[in-house]
Amino acid sequence: PRGSNPLAAAAAAGSEAPPGLAAAKKFEDLPISGYSKQGLRDAKYITLTAVQRAALPHALCGRDVLGAAKTGSGKTLAFLLPALEALYRQRWSRLDGLGALIISPTRELALQIFDELRKIGRRHELSAGLLIGGKDVKEEKARVHGMNILVCTPGRLLQHMDETPGFDASQLQVLVLDEADRNLDMGFSVTLDAIVSNLPRQRQTLLFSATQTKNVKDLARLSLKDPEYVSVHAEA
Ligand code: ADP
Ligand code: MG
Repeated sequence: PRGSNPLAAAAAAGSEAPPGLAAAKKFEDLPISGYSKQGLRDAKYITLTAVQRAALPHALCGRDVLGAAKTGSGKTLAFLLPALEALYRQRWSRLDGLGALIISPTRELALQIFDELRKIGRRHELSAGLLIGGKDVKEEKARVHGMNILVCTPGRLLQHMDETPGFDASQLQVLVLDEADRNLDMGFSVTLDAIVSNLPRQRQTLLFSATQTKNVKDLARLSLKDPEYVSVHAEA
């Protein structure tokens, strides 16, 4: 991890989104890397959805975000783009190891996120892996080393944390919990506690779900720092 975050000053200045960022309606107008812009263009993403307009200005300056918007509103890009950009700005390389962790409650959703990441992240020089149950854990163990971004289900992630020698999350920059309410409800809370105990406290945390989770205990367990609450009910 090297380099500085040009948006950090904006983040430190308070919860106002930086001018320009707040008004951005198109991905082209966001202060993001050419790599991401190209990936978004390749995938034919032009205009931000409502939740992306609301969450990206905060998430891109490194703030913690707790976002709620209904299914189909485009939450995936609202966390994938900030994760990619955080690593890009730090000039993260394959040698830097695990930089971003995205946790999804089900294999199917994890796979969808991974596909989206491969689409929009193609131009970045970062490696990404998928850790979900139902695949050969030995084969995963061999490949998990050196992955910069991992998309995983909670159980499988914890299994690697416990069993895979050298699995190192100590430099993690960004933690994403997608479908946070389901992740916390589906009996995963013990697993999540164990996962989070292996992560550095100094990191960016992004929580997204279809319903607003403001359960103080849940937020404390994930050690969110002064999160921005973003809630979108209108059509995306
Ligand atoms: P959610 O996680 O909120 O249920 P997704 O991130 O899965 O929603 O996105 C739902 C659909 O909308 C996907 O097919 C995705 O490709 C598409 N989508 C997301 N963002 C945009 C955008 N800015 N412009 C056009 N389509 C988008
Ligand atoms: Mg989703």
